[in-house]
Amino acid sequence: MIEMQDVWKTYPNGVSALNGIDVKIDRGEFVYVVGPSGAGKSTFIKLMYREEKPTKGTIFVNGFNVDRIRERKIPLMRRQIGVVFQDFKLLPQLTAAENVAFAMEVIEAPRKKIKQRVKEVMELVGLGDKLNNLPNQLSGGQQQRVAIARALVNNPAVIIADEPTGNLDPDTSWEIMQLLNKINDHGTTIVMATHNKEVVNTMKRRVLAIEDGKIVRDERQGVYGYED
Ligand code: ADP
Ligand code: ADP
Repeated sequence: MIEMQDVWKTYPNGVSALNGIDVKIDRGEFVYVVGPSGAGKSTFIKLMYREEKPTKGTIFVNGFNVDRIRERKIPLMRRQIGVVFQDFKLLPQLTAAENVAFAMEVIEAPRKKIKQRVKEVMELVGLGDKLNNLPNQLSGGQQQRVAIARALVNNPAVIIADEPTGNLDPDTSWEIMQLLNKINDHGTTIVMATHNKEVVNTMKRRVLAIEDGKIVRDERQGVYGYED
């Protein structure tokens, strides 16, 4: 599903964020990516959906050679990768439903299909009654649910999440984790960078720890392993 072979990333300012990453993630896995601030977690995540290009190495995501893909094929690739961010990244002037629909409009899905599918995923994330709310009329947890609905709407094989609970209180974080678990139970691969120690230690999923741009731990039923 996801494979990185000898992946390196040096930013234009000379900072080397990743220093030789080799990893394989199978279809259906749920993987936490942990490590200190500045370790390279976000860079690792950004390379998977081609927000950044590697300086060296090969990256496959769902059959796409992400590091070599042509510009015009990036939208097709992104359709199969849902991305969720710490700060939700919803468009503030659009309603919840319009934010979710937007992800289907960019791939030119038929209008009727969009309407149907948006309703379905909004119900799946527990917001069937909030279709017409603007983001600022929703709580943080609800906004993150909308963002997850947007990530799911095109039925991606993978969801990649960068600190999705980073702006949420503990109870709301658990609700979001339950939602991600439910999505994973239905077969979607999930890769999630997080500083949420309690979540990682409770869920006992695969844990990849990154330090100084290298994978220093890869555990089947892992623990968070840091004191922050
Ligand atoms: P983490 O997500 O683990 O905090 P990052 O991947 O964000 O780590 O950052 C890894 C290193 O790369 C850090 O030293 C950071 O300052 C640097 N870095 C991240 N993004 C950029 C960028 N766009 N330009 C230059 N340096 C960056
Ligand atoms: P159940 O309670 O039967 O396990 P869930 O609450 O897990 O069902 O899911 C509710 C509905 O959403 C089900 O019809 C399920 O098939 C659907 N569903 C769950 N995850 C996804 C997904 N990633 N993509 C599409 N549909 C999904």
